[in-house]
Amino acid sequence: MPYLPSPKIVIIGAGFGGLKAAKLLGKKNVGQVVLIDKTNHHLFQPLLYQVASAALSPTDIAAPIREILSQYRNTYVMMGDVVSIDKENHCIHLQNDTKIQYDYLIVATGARHSYFGNSHWEKFAPGLKTLDDALTIRERILMSFERAEGSACDKEVEKHLNFIIIGGGPTGVEMAGAIAEIAHKTMRDDFRKINVSKTKIYLVEGLSHLLNTYPEKLSNRARRDLTKLGVDVITGKRVTDITEDGVLIGDTFIPTHNVIWAAGNQASPLLKTLNSELDKQGRVIVDADLSLPNHPEIFVIGDAACAKDKNGQPIPAVAPAAMQQGRYVAKLIIKQLPKEKRPAFKYLDKGSMAMVATGKAIMKMGPIELSGWLAWLGWGFIHILFLIGFRNRLGVCLEWIYELITGGRRSRLISKPIEDYEKSHKARLAAIKD
Ligand SMILES: Cc1cc2nc3c(=O)[nH]c(=O)nc-3n(C[C@H](O)[C@H](O)[C@H](O)COP(=O)(O)OP(=O)(O)OC[C@H]3O[C@@H](n4cnc5c(N)ncnc54)[C@H](O)[C@@H]3O)c2cc1C
Repeated sequence: MPYLPSPKIVIIGAGFGGLKAAKLLGKKNVGQVVLIDKTNHHLFQPLLYQVASAALSPTDIAAPIREILSQYRNTYVMMGDVVSIDKENHCIHLQNDTKIQYDYLIVATGARHSYFGNSHWEKFAPGLKTLDDALTIRERILMSFERAEGSACDKEVEKHLNFIIIGGGPTGVEMAGAIAEIAHKTMRDDFRKINVSKTKIYLVEGLSHLLNTYPEKLSNRARRDLTKLGVDVITGKRVTDITEDGVLIGDTFIPTHNVIWAAGNQASPLLKTLNSELDKQGRVIVDADLSLPNHPEIFVIGDAACAKDKNGQPIPAVAPAAMQQGRYVAKLIIKQLPKEKRPAFKYLDKGSMAMVATGKAIMKMGPIELSGWLAWLGWGFIHILFLIGFRNRLGVCLEWIYELITGGRRSRLISKPIEDYEKSHKARLAAIKD
């Protein structure tokens, strides 16, 4: 056996891809692993919308990274914001001026939302990627009903009870379904002045179909389910402006204080510092072994990578792809294979599913296409299975059973008193005017 020195492996990002790689390297006790993340937790993004819609609380879908990796003695966890990568000198720089050397680098920094060149829309239309985003959206949704109840002006009430979700992918569909359930089920009897059932929910998609990566039959089924829940689905029309008073869709202006952005994705700005070729979404174009061209020691995985399968089809930005890529690069590092001996990464598509509302989902697995209760049960089972930690699995299971039986959502707390909310709302509006 040739002597293999213990390499220093730096992983940026403890999402689905980075965590999978760290776990395998830890299990095999290979190298000295340094895992760096901006936050102290691993987040299960697929259930983020349930926090935003008050069905689950943050601790149900997130777990401390240190705790997850505590059993691996070769792994060092660091909370830090990586601001640049110096590939020529094999080191990375953190915001606090710390410099860390590496022999191998795994970049797994995920993606943020993109406003297609209209970044000023973000103030009015928050997106959903982090726990902070989910709590902001939850607070805005709940506050909106409170403000409608407290308002004497019909026009203001209408603005508070209109919700617009932009983007008809899985997140947009899930958010629209969840808000419809809050308004028409959870809070139906909770207000005295306003009629909560008059809440209007609009879901806007620029393409001709919702969930456009799914077969047309399933996409149509999701649309029908949403319509039955009272969601107004608008397809084939683009949002042209968003202001503090509402949204312009083509020539139609819809007054609202509630806009949620679920449209575009943009990879982390950190990737620019790699000085390598990026695609339109700012993702790094990687070789077949997920390494950077001419830099076999740097891997980019998950939502940060633009990778293609052997047929030239792009690998989708989904959690299973990120996890498979994390496992694949960890194995390459364990074997310390030179680039020319590395097999190409192969993505195994195990199917996809999207939730619409309780008892309503769509699912595609190979030739099998399902919708309704069966797909919803499959969706629930898979999500519980992939959550990290027994407590989270049990907690989420119990919350869902409670919601199924009573229609209630237990995480409906607004943490700040009203005066704080009014102050921050005014400050936000003043900042917009500046
Ligand atoms: C609302 C929502 C719903 C989704 N639903 C589904 C679904 O139902 N099914 C599915 O398969 N996929 C779903 N996805 C997509 C899936 O979550 C992503 O494909 C997956 O998280 C990508 O994994 P990743 O490891 O590339 O990045 P992420 O999981 O996003 O992790 C990136 C990590 O990097 C950290 N980071 C970023 N920049 C830095 C930096 N500069 N320094 C230090 N740390 C940094 C972040 O804090 C984060 O922890 C959903 C995504 C969202 C946002």
